[in-house]
Amino acid sequence: MKIFVTRRLPLDLASLAPAGIEVVVDPRDRTLTQKEIVEAARDADALLPQLTETIDRALLERLPRVKVIANYAVGVNNVDLAAARERGIVVCNTPGVLTDATADLALTLILALARRVREGERLLRSGGFAGWGPSFLLGRDLAGATLGLFGFGRIGEAVGRRACAFGMRVRYTRRSGPKPDADAEHVAIDTLLRESDVLSLHAPLTPETRHAIDAAAIAKMKPGALLVNTSRGPLVDESALVAALERGHLGGAGLDVYEREPAVHPGLVGRDDVVLLPHVGSATRGTREAMARLAFENCVAVLLGKTPPALVS
Ligand code: NAP
Repeated sequence: MKIFVTRRLPLDLASLAPAGIEVVVDPRDRTLTQKEIVEAARDADALLPQLTETIDRALLERLPRVKVIANYAVGVNNVDLAAARERGIVVCNTPGVLTDATADLALTLILALARRVREGERLLRSGGFAGWGPSFLLGRDLAGATLGLFGFGRIGEAVGRRACAFGMRVRYTRRSGPKPDADAEHVAIDTLLRESDVLSLHAPLTPETRHAIDAAAIAKMKPGALLVNTSRGPLVDESALVAALERGHLGGAGLDVYEREPAVHPGLVGRDDVVLLPHVGSATRGTREAMARLAFENCVAVLLGKTPPALVS
């Protein structure tokens, strides 16, 4: 049996493969087109794709041997789950192992925005630092500020825990209402928008969450609030975000993901009140190795007729 991995991963999966299972890693080390995946994975029993590769109905129809798609991500918005289900293909992901790294990055963005890190860095490197000053580059206090979490699953809750340690008041909204024993207050989405000093997004990309933060939602946000997105780009209507920043309604934005990735709205690029990272939420060596291991274990389990450790559907 053959596992086709669309891109080099930071772990040698071939050395972990049990007898009877072959691992083929595509040597091109870039996002593959659908045509390239079909050609390279024609005889594969398992597919281990990246979040940048669209695994849709048309692709699955051309890969009749595939029994499992083990996405190298926790988000599965790049996979047509209904089409996979209809064909009896198991879909798996990599939850949990990337929670801490991604939550750390959300905090990085919150801290960078609150303390004007980008502006200070740019200013110093361009020779603009003339010495300490009592009113120079004043930022915001996190202690006492309200953090609103849109999505309170593994990553949202981990961000909440970190924010508590910074003295923030943490509130959240999610689909299924209050979470028992949560160390944060559940509120309705409108309250979250209206009262958060920092709004951080941690919901998956679904038809319901696409443009959850559009012009209408932004208009409800507290004037001067900060928006942080480490979930998926299309949760935010980037044009509406740029318009809100330009008219001074929002105080800043910290983004790791983009609506039309890897393109970034030109209205964001030149702004000092915006921190832009290149989709590196889970990008630590240990996390990416753990993701590779889990994705591989998902493939092997399904091929051996066992329940995979991270089953989506
Ligand atoms: P998770 O544990 O499944 O949590 C998702 C949360 O979103 C849950 O609280 C869920 O609520 C909530 N949610 C779903 N639909 C919603 C809606 N329509 N309105 C409000 N809340 C909704 O997922 P996770 O492991 O925390 O990961 C979250 C997302 O982060 C992933 O889907 C992925 O896209 C993104 N991510 C990005 C990076 C990066 O590199 N930047 C890295 C890792 C993950 P219910 O439980 O009530 O459904």
